[in-house]
Amino acid sequence: MLRAALIIALLCFGAPSVAQTLGASARALPDGSSLTGNSRETTLELALSQAVPFRVFTLVEPMRVVIDFRQVDFSALPEDFNGAGVVSDVAMGGASSPGWSRMVLTLSEPMSPRIAAMEVDNITGGALVTLTLAPTDLETFTAAAGPPPGLDAVLLPVVAEAPPRNDDTFVVMIDPGHGGVDPGALHNGFSEADLILTFARELREVMRRTGRIEVVMTRDADIFVPLPTRVTLARAAEADLFISLHADALAEGRAQGATVYTLSDEASDAATAALAEQHDRADLLQGVDLSGTDDEVAAVLIDLARIETAPRSRAFADILVQAIETTGLDLHAHPRSEGAFSVLKAADFPAVLLEIGFLSEGGDLENIQDPRWRAHMQAAITGAVIAWSQADAAAEGLRRQ
Ligand SMILES: [Zn+2]
Repeated sequence: MLRAALIIALLCFGAPSVAQTLGASARALPDGSSLTGNSRETTLELALSQAVPFRVFTLVEPMRVVIDFRQVDFSALPEDFNGAGVVSDVAMGGASSPGWSRMVLTLSEPMSPRIAAMEVDNITGGALVTLTLAPTDLETFTAAAGPPPGLDAVLLPVVAEAPPRNDDTFVVMIDPGHGGVDPGALHNGFSEADLILTFARELREVMRRTGRIEVVMTRDADIFVPLPTRVTLARAAEADLFISLHADALAEGRAQGATVYTLSDEASDAATAALAEQHDRADLLQGVDLSGTDDEVAAVLIDLARIETAPRSRAFADILVQAIETTGLDLHAHPRSEGAFSVLKAADFPAVLLEIGFLSEGGDLENIQDPRWRAHMQAAITGAVIAWSQADAAAEGLRRQ
């Protein structure tokens, strides 16, 4: 189809290096990379030749912060890139899982990751990963430590080459909302960030068990990941679908049941507008500029690309609402809504935001704490992803004719 080809050509023109280098291995660049700090804060900045998916977690005995990247060549980093502040040692190499690389910071005192961000230069395609560590106590550090499931936790046997990527694999980026300094909604001692991370990890396992979905997550720890970074990570992972998960509280009125949101400049109601604003606020407090670097040409290109993705997002949202209803779970009185959610603003892959329920008074906290309820919701989401991916692939065939 001519229009699709035109959009792709324009997009490639708009971001030449990104389009050309995705898929190849990223290189760590000495210029722009640094490790600085003291006992109050330590900051790692790692300049990369291109954006790649990454994740952060901690380990004990000895205390370590581990950053896994989808294949990064660290060899250009200088010899003296080996410690600062409470970081006594830095080790780099291949992770035990093929196609992944690992950086391990050994700590002399307990520090926990506060912010994990990735910014991408739209001109060069280069990426800057920023990780800040702040003091915590040993008890908190130990409680939060442990490798997330999915990748083998064995440290640093070197892997020579990435496996050939199977391009048929359907990749879902799961985005557990909030985290770190931004706990999201709070109710009866529970935080949205924690409940949603648990839900997301379980959902990942359910999806993987189908053998048909590869899952990546924007965060796999109690850590603040800025909204633009979440989108960048999905793009770097070449996600086919982006699902942001939340369980917010409404400031006014009672709300119950699941809601699926898609992107729109105009919010469908005042509550949705407030919710979208609330989600941007944490980023603004952290000094993340959500206005982006969109110039006029880029804005036109993004609008063009959204002509393709917006109906696909809406189609998935409809299927998801249907699947939740068929499973017999509660839906909100208006289960399909639209709003200006920053995390849904990528133009190159379909994206939805799912509130699995609300944490406000009279809401869904009990359900969200119930493993059986969660299993039903996870099955509904997984079923919807498979159903939509088939329908979308069939529609893609038609679009191409
Ligand atoms: Zn939320």
